[in-house]
Formats: sequence, C-alpha cells, structure tokens
Amino acid sequence: MNPGKAAWIVVLGGGQLGRMLSLSARKMGIQVLTWTGGDRSGAASTADRIIDKSFGDPSALEDFSQSVEATTVEFENLPVETLEQVEERLTLRPGSHAVSICQHREREKKFLSENGFSCANFSLAHDLQSFTDGVRQIGTPLIVKTAEFGYDGKGQLRLSDQLSQNEIEQAWKTFEGGRVVIEERINLETELSVLVARDYDGNTVYYDPVENIHRNHILDISIAPARISPEIQNKASETALEIAHALKYVGMLAVEFFVSSDGRLLVNELAPRPHNSGHHTIDACHCSQFEQQARATAGIPLGSTQLISPVIMINLLGDLWQDSLTPPDWSEVLAMKGTALHLYGKREARPGRKMGHINILGDSVEDCLKKARSIRNQLDLPAF
Ligand code: ADP
Ligand code: MG
Repeated sequence: MNPGKAAWIVVLGGGQLGRMLSLSARKMGIQVLTWTGGDRSGAASTADRIIDKSFGDPSALEDFSQSVEATTVEFENLPVETLEQVEERLTLRPGSHAVSICQHREREKKFLSENGFSCANFSLAHDLQSFTDGVRQIGTPLIVKTAEFGYDGKGQLRLSDQLSQNEIEQAWKTFEGGRVVIEERINLETELSVLVARDYDGNTVYYDPVENIHRNHILDISIAPARISPEIQNKASETALEIAHALKYVGMLAVEFFVSSDGRLLVNELAPRPHNSGHHTIDACHCSQFEQQARATAGIPLGSTQLISPVIMINLLGDLWQDSLTPPDWSEVLAMKGTALHLYGKREARPGRKMGHINILGDSVEDCLKKARSIRNQLDLPAF
C-alpha cells in the first residue's frame, strides 16, 4: 500500500488502543474501519467507519471483505474462529496463530519454554489432581493465573503460605472447570517491557526497554529509558526480537519481562498489539507504536523508534474521577512544560478502568520524575 491511495485497514476491537491506532493511521491518509465486537468505548468515535456487530456475526465480515487491504487486532481476546475466518479472506497482521498463542497463557508458556525462552517456573493444571501436583511442585509463594481472559491482574490468585490439602481444594474451587498456569512468585527487582515491530519481509525495529511500575497489579508508571544495566537492556531487546521471529510475527508485539532480585531476566507474557507501556512513544519517539502498527498492517516500511527525550507515562484510572462523569482538574498537568494529556473519550469512569494517560517529557529521567511527583501530588495519587 502507498499512503495517500484510497486504502482501508480493519481493526478488530473498539477500545483505547484501537482509538490511538485510528488517530495514527488516519494521519497518514489510511482509512480505518473498526469492527467493535460490541465495544464502543474508545475507538468508535475516531474511526472512518464502524461495524458495531459481535465477532460471532458473519455478516460483519461480508460487509467489508471486498474493500479492505489488511486487518489487525487491538486486543487479543478474540475468538480464534473469527480470526481464522478473517484470515481466509484477508491479510491479518498479526496472524491467527500468533494471536492464539498470546491470548492463552498455557499455549504462551508452552511456546516460550519449547523455544528456549526463560520464564518463571510453572506448571499447568486443569483438574484438582493436576492442580495439587502443580502447587506441590512449584511451592509457595506462587501465583495461579487463568489460562484465558486474564488482564490487569484479574483471574489471578496469590498463595503465600504452605498449603494443606483442604486449602488447595478451596483454592481450586475458584478455577474449577478451567485451565490454569501455576507460577513461581518472583522476587522482583524491576519489570520491563520491550515493544517490537516486524514487517512482512521479516525486518524488525524495537523500542528501548521500558521500566514498568505496577500498583494493584495494574500498570501505574512507565519510565523510558529504563534504569537498568546495558547488559540487561541488550538481552531483553534481543529476546523480544527472537520471540517476534519465532512467531513469524507481523505487526506490533509487546514482551513483558521480570528482572528478579537474583538477576534473572524472565519473560512474563506477550501482547499481540500495542501495549500500555508503549504509550510514551506517542510523544517521545519519532514513530509511535500505533503508527508502527498501522505501517506494519498496511505494508508501509517501519518507522524510527528512536527516543527523542526521556519520558514518564502515568496511567489515569477511573479511581481519579470525582464521580463517574467528573474528571479531576487537569490545570497543573496542562500548564506544565513537556506534558501531554491523553484521554480516551470513555463516557463513564469506574474504579480500575483505564481512562487516559499523561506523558511527561524532560531533560533527564530525574527531571521527569520530579515533574511526575508534582503531578501525582496534585492529583492525589500515591507517591512512588
Ligand atoms: P496481566 O498483566 O495479564 O494481568 P501478568 O501476568 O502480567 O498479568 O500479571 C500482572 C502483574 O502481576 C505483573 O506485571 C507483576 O507485577 C505481577 N506478577 C505476575 N506474575 C508474577 C510472578 N510470577 N511473580 C511476581 N509477580 C508477578
Ligand atoms: Mg501483564
């Protein structure tokens, strides 16, 4: 595709990632059709066209498959059948195989371990017997995670103490009927993510590793460049690129890492799309992760990932809103030099709901931290 030619891409999913993707794609004259799957919260108002039908409705596919160049996803929890149906008729980037691995923790862990990528010790379980064996094998402290549909710490159970058989049975009740991953709980030094893009010809670019701080299992702050040794930076970047190649991936891929207090670099999980920890790239990099996804989808050469300035991203959750319709006072954020406020246009705030983010650019990470602390103080967010 050549930008400027009337061309369409389809985005599966209607959340904030689709919204930011639309804004980037349309900037280059690429037209965006959003298939919402019923989620009109973020992307519906920024697309050129929407199809507001469920992903199970085959008439949606009929509607656009004649007129579109390529398709991408803005979230991973799409039915694999839908992805395969799309792929039969259209170019899907990333492909259904890669998305199906990233959307399912069991398949993801198998892919990572079979391809030699280090992750936390884990065991897979699907009934009380395999759960009991897994818990005994991994030992506490551990985390149990549902194989499917987990995000922002949802679908996770943390177990710390030595467990009796009765307690193991109680714990399994939460997950009964499903499949889980039982994972060694890592003593974390820090968390990182690396965002990579790979095009159809196998060319890759990557953004420098980002340092991530979570609160209540939800990303709170991202810092770029990450305050880690060059060795770990290089290893994380190389690992992310190797994963993209191993998946024969096309598009934007996020790789989350743990750095343990004993110095191990472990892959945590994969996201087959732009990632919350890459939102800083909108204001602080030559080409944002969203423009990169639009390029990879449309078959345009990938852009420069260079960081123009140190940056901190602060996530804005619905908890900050005075009530479901009233945002906080942004005057200090708007007045401060080097800050950019991004809101996703969601009508109603709810605790834990991602409503927007702030990017804070500065001369150094220290400078960004100073500004970030002042903003958090003014917004009544906890210090970090
Ligand atoms: P999701 O982001 O899909 O909710 P994650 O597996 O990334 O699920 O877990 C969310 C957060 O919980 C991680 O970023 C990390 O802070 C913490 N966490 C998850 N697994 C572990 C683990 N094995 N050891 C220590 N902390 C963990
Ligand atoms: Mg995660």
